[in-house]
Amino acid sequence: MLRFASLGSGSKGNCLVAESGSTRVLIDCGLNLRETERRLGRLGLKPSDLTAILVTHEHSDHSAGAFGLAAAHGLAVYLTHGTLTALQAEGTVNQGVRIHEVRGEEAFPLQEIEVRPFTVPHDAREPVQYVLSDGNARLGVLTDIGISTPHVENSLSGLDALVLECNYDRDLLWGGTYPRWLKERIGGPFGHLDNLDSARLLGALDRAKLKHVIGAHLSQQNNRPDLACAALAGAMGCEESWIGIATQNDGFAWREI
Ligand SMILES: [Zn+2]
Ligand SMILES: [Zn+2]
Repeated sequence: MLRFASLGSGSKGNCLVAESGSTRVLIDCGLNLRETERRLGRLGLKPSDLTAILVTHEHSDHSAGAFGLAAAHGLAVYLTHGTLTALQAEGTVNQGVRIHEVRGEEAFPLQEIEVRPFTVPHDAREPVQYVLSDGNARLGVLTDIGISTPHVENSLSGLDALVLECNYDRDLLWGGTYPRWLKERIGGPFGHLDNLDSARLLGALDRAKLKHVIGAHLSQQNNRPDLACAALAGAMGCEESWIGIATQNDGFAWREI
């Protein structure tokens, strides 16, 4: 059995935990050490229960707490060479932390969980996202991607659960107060997915086995949960209430597949 939960999701910090048996991995840690420990506790976990931390890319909402948590609790960090290089250049890689470099499309085992990184277009040095499997069920996590690609859709087809970025609503973004350069960055091909693009991506997947679909990384300025839910429910042909939403403060509670 694979179960997963979010400690929080959005531009102020992302962190998801997945568990199979006694193996528990974080995908990203964009919250500070105290907040990560507090929110793990909310899910009934301690940092010492974790096996490893997977980082998707160097943007601080995904990486800010990763090395601090790893250093404080003796955890290994998994990330691409490009992400590591970018974090080293910022001086945010703690000495003494065990580091494992991952490569897009090369799966590897972490005890009871198989991890498959896949490459995505986003404005970072070498960003990846991850599909996790316990050998039976598969969970895919996709945030921080400017446009969908055939490769991404292939990587996410046939999943049992999907956590999918719904970053912004186009009208709210373009009618909002962000400076033009930032709107263009977010809306560009190396930025983020809006609700309609996320729905289109979901609609292109083999969805037959999907038991959980959760909208994530919602902008607090440029999106609303009801808009993201409506878009994803449209692609699934399901009730809006069936779609989950990950929030900045609460993430979402444990779900099982
Ligand atoms: Zn992000
Ligand atoms: Zn990013």
